[in-house]
Amino acid sequence: MPSQETALRLSCFLGVLVAMAVLEAVLPRRARAVERRRRWPANLGVVALSAVVLRLLFPATAVGVALATEAHGGGLLPWLGLPGWAAVAVAVVLLDLAIYLQHVLFHAVPALWRLHRMHHADLDFDVTTGVRFHPVEIVLSMVLKLMVVVALGAPALAVLIFEVLLNATSMFNHANLRLPLALDAALRAVLVTPDMHRVHHSTDPRETNSNYGFNIALWDRLFATYRAQPALGHIGMEIGLAEFRDPAGQRIDRMLLQPLRDGDGK
Ligand SMILES: [Zn+2]
Repeated sequence: MPSQETALRLSCFLGVLVAMAVLEAVLPRRARAVERRRRWPANLGVVALSAVVLRLLFPATAVGVALATEAHGGGLLPWLGLPGWAAVAVAVVLLDLAIYLQHVLFHAVPALWRLHRMHHADLDFDVTTGVRFHPVEIVLSMVLKLMVVVALGAPALAVLIFEVLLNATSMFNHANLRLPLALDAALRAVLVTPDMHRVHHSTDPRETNSNYGFNIALWDRLFATYRAQPALGHIGMEIGLAEFRDPAGQRIDRMLLQPLRDGDGK
């Protein structure tokens, strides 16, 4: 079972990564600010590092914890007595709400922002930005997710669907992809699109502190953090953070140490 889970996750990750990379080549939204060879090894290297850290620190995956919780019958959803399919759907939606709230928290609390800032310091916005997170942020996210999974009594199937979906949608909505505007408008009624999430990667702090959703587009509208378009437009807007503009910072060792720094050369 764990090896099947790993194979499923890895094949979805690689499948969506390749699909988005091909689409970015065919339908790019913006010209790149930095060559891919300066960003991709570090962005993908940090994913591999996080996977190893998670494997070493956590004896079970979130799906394994959900299976154990299911066996005991604990948590909110079993108590509600929903039919199986409804419990799966409700759990996926509530896990997505939890990730939205966690993302708001990582922007609001200065110490957490130092960790999350590494994700925002990418000077371009493409498929690999969607998986570029500091390993310490990944570990904290896992702890929070396990707490939510246990509190909800989330079905293991829901946790698996949610994790694979979040990984895929994160790569999709960070893609440097020019979707037809009518398709973007229709999609963003339900799902976070690349144009919607790109606003969150603007150097303008009002835009950075908006569009926190990764998956379902509802939360930003519900909690009034939705911003439809960047003020300078998708081509004119600046991606990244004002205090980290040096392309030399896009190296894995500098990315890992970035939470300790205040800006380029500081
Ligand atoms: Zn963010």
